[in-house]
Amino acid sequence: MKKRKILINGAGLGGLAAACCLIKAGHDVEVYEQAAQMGEVGAGIQISANAQHVLRDLGLGPDIDRIGVRPGAYVFRLHDSGEEIQRFPLAEEHERINGAPYTQLHRADFHEVLARKAHEMRAGIVRLNKRATSYVENTDGVVLHFADGTSASGDILIGADGIRSVVRAQMSGASNPVYTGDAAWRLVIPTDKLPPNLLEHVMSVFMGPGGHVVCYYLRAGKLLNFVGLVETDDVAEESWTLKRPWEQLKANYAGWHPIIQTIIDTADKDQCFRWSLFNRDPLMNWSTKRVTLLGDSCHATLPYLAQGAVMAIEDGAILARALDMSDDEAEALDIYQRNRIERTARIVRQSTANRTLFHLHSEAEIRAAFAKRDEGAERNKWLYSYNPLTVPLV
Ligand SMILES: Cc1cc2nc3c(=O)[nH]c(=O)nc-3n(C[C@H](O)[C@H](O)[C@H](O)COP(=O)(O)OP(=O)(O)OC[C@H]3O[C@@H](n4cnc5c(N)ncnc54)[C@H](O)[C@@H]3O)c2cc1C
Repeated sequence: MKKRKILINGAGLGGLAAACCLIKAGHDVEVYEQAAQMGEVGAGIQISANAQHVLRDLGLGPDIDRIGVRPGAYVFRLHDSGEEIQRFPLAEEHERINGAPYTQLHRADFHEVLARKAHEMRAGIVRLNKRATSYVENTDGVVLHFADGTSASGDILIGADGIRSVVRAQMSGASNPVYTGDAAWRLVIPTDKLPPNLLEHVMSVFMGPGGHVVCYYLRAGKLLNFVGLVETDDVAEESWTLKRPWEQLKANYAGWHPIIQTIIDTADKDQCFRWSLFNRDPLMNWSTKRVTLLGDSCHATLPYLAQGAVMAIEDGAILARALDMSDDEAEALDIYQRNRIERTARIVRQSTANRTLFHLHSEAEIRAAFAKRDEGAERNKWLYSYNPLTVPLV
């Protein structure tokens, strides 16, 4: 295996996971991050078996088990009566079928675990306050330029710099995001403020006209994560930190089940955030001879399958394997891209399709749609059963 110097732009969940995979594979890795300090927002994230294989291979299983919650099931309910429409088991069943668990984590805890691992593997790996502006690629290597006038050089550059990726913009032009018509409210509520046993320890999805709500527990059940999707023409920027009035949240869920009312009534009225959701067509080419992309920079997705970060983690593992397969950078990046495009495009398309499924406008339509499909069996068949460490590469 040829040892390379690899530059990763972006220390998000995808960049850090890739850094760990690439160091483990024997490469010399540096990560550049525009932020002045490391961190993630206070919200939940779900990580299914297909990414857990990678985390466990990095030795992070005990950390993930310590900071995460394993939900008993995925439960779909009607928005007003709360009636259960479908349930598929997670917990032991997900692990038995797919070989690794399904875990719900606080994003900040997860980011910290990945960052600590990357620093343990290579001290000082993340350089903060480094906002990349452009890159120059030639036959001998690639140079990444930063806003502070400095630069870094290596054999390969990976753009792990998210939805507004400068690496993607230089490689493929602007991404032209299209507003989906949906926004996502995010709340995190201490469970000791809620009535005991308000919701069982499952992943709950309440589906209603023009919206759905996803609730699950974090930090050993001490926090309840609430993501409320609503259809709205009131479009704002894509941001985790944009606050909106609590009264608007309350109005968006008028008539919904008492559990939803209780959660909203208990929320800190000054901590209601809303993210406008945009869609981007998946790229059909995201590599040059020495530069490639991973995560949201190349296949940003709607969150309706909970697979954005999961895909980014899969990317890192496949990239490490692809680099092992050829001493030629361009060929290795081509192997990586070839083995990722179809799967990631399918996930992006299926997430978009789930918007329709979760927002059907009548109870009869919801019942009919779920009568026709077994969501759990579907997902186990093609989504969760993928193992990036062993899937044959073509
Ligand atoms: C409401 C919602 C719920 C979600 N739930 C889930 C879920 O349950 N499971 C799941 O798998 N996914 C989920 N996702 C998707 C997931 O959050 C993203 O797919 C994931 O965070 C992408 O990781 P990334 O590393 O590619 O990008 P990011 O996390 O965006 O990281 C990019 C990093 O690059 C840095 N950066 C950007 N530009 C520059 C630059 N010019 N120079 C240097 N650094 C730069 C940024 O500061 C950042 O640190 C959800 C998304 C939303 C909106």
